[in-house]
Amino acid sequence: MPHAALTPGTVHLVGAGPGDPDLLTLRAARLIMNASLIVHDGLVEPAILAMAPRTARMVSVAKSRSRHTLPQDGINALLVREARAGHDVIRLKGGDPFVFGRGGEEAEACRAAGVPVVVVPGISAANGAAAAAQIPLTHRDAASIVTFVAGQCKGLTEQDWSGLAGKGRTLVIYMGVATAEAISEKLMADGLAPQVPVAVIENATRAAMRVLRGPLAGLAALVAVNKVKSPALIVIGDVAARDETELREIALEAVK
Ligand code: SAH
Repeated sequence: MPHAALTPGTVHLVGAGPGDPDLLTLRAARLIMNASLIVHDGLVEPAILAMAPRTARMVSVAKSRSRHTLPQDGINALLVREARAGHDVIRLKGGDPFVFGRGGEEAEACRAAGVPVVVVPGISAANGAAAAAQIPLTHRDAASIVTFVAGQCKGLTEQDWSGLAGKGRTLVIYMGVATAEAISEKLMADGLAPQVPVAVIENATRAAMRVLRGPLAGLAALVAVNKVKSPALIVIGDVAARDETELREIALEAVK
């Protein structure tokens, strides 16, 4: 008698937020605490992984800029294979799965294989860092447009960022530490003033968080002198100004 087809497990693409376990959604926390298999990337805090049952299988698919533990195709195949074997999979990612998280590719791979997939949003690094550093991404007096870009991507130099930063705009750059110099040069070549305020937020919401500020022209030096390491975000625009007083001065300047 032929075996009945095995019902595939469900793949949950779960956002783990920027680091602090308190910033998990209740849904993410519940899924982690009931998990039997967690496939996680390198950005997920150990304190969050520690919330999983001791019996859960933990698989790291951490990537780094120079060293790829498991290429994306391998991760997609792993998720599909486990789900087809009947296992529910918690695919845990830093921040939000659909913001520079390649969650879109994983969801597509699951759908193509007939594996049910559920997406659980997380607090993206931009939101977590903005809150922790008290840098509003929008501000009635300073910015009504905010853009998220990837600083490390295919063809950075060819990408058209013109108009994304400047008066009334906030530009948030993910994965931009290694290319900080090229980024500031690119923006200034696009006409952005060298004194536009910049904030670099390293390890946002974690114990080791640092917030560094300076003008755009000094971005590369700020990163180099302070030995900023990933994960860090770069925020460019008036909202990144040193403090409320400075922000108010900027606003006053604008109405002169
Ligand atoms: N899906 C994630 C982003 C993954 S890309 C999200 O929504 O947040 C990885 C980049 O995110 C890092 O290079 C860094 O720029 C940023 N990042 C993630 N966690 C961070 C943190 N705790 N502090 C600062 N930047 C962080």
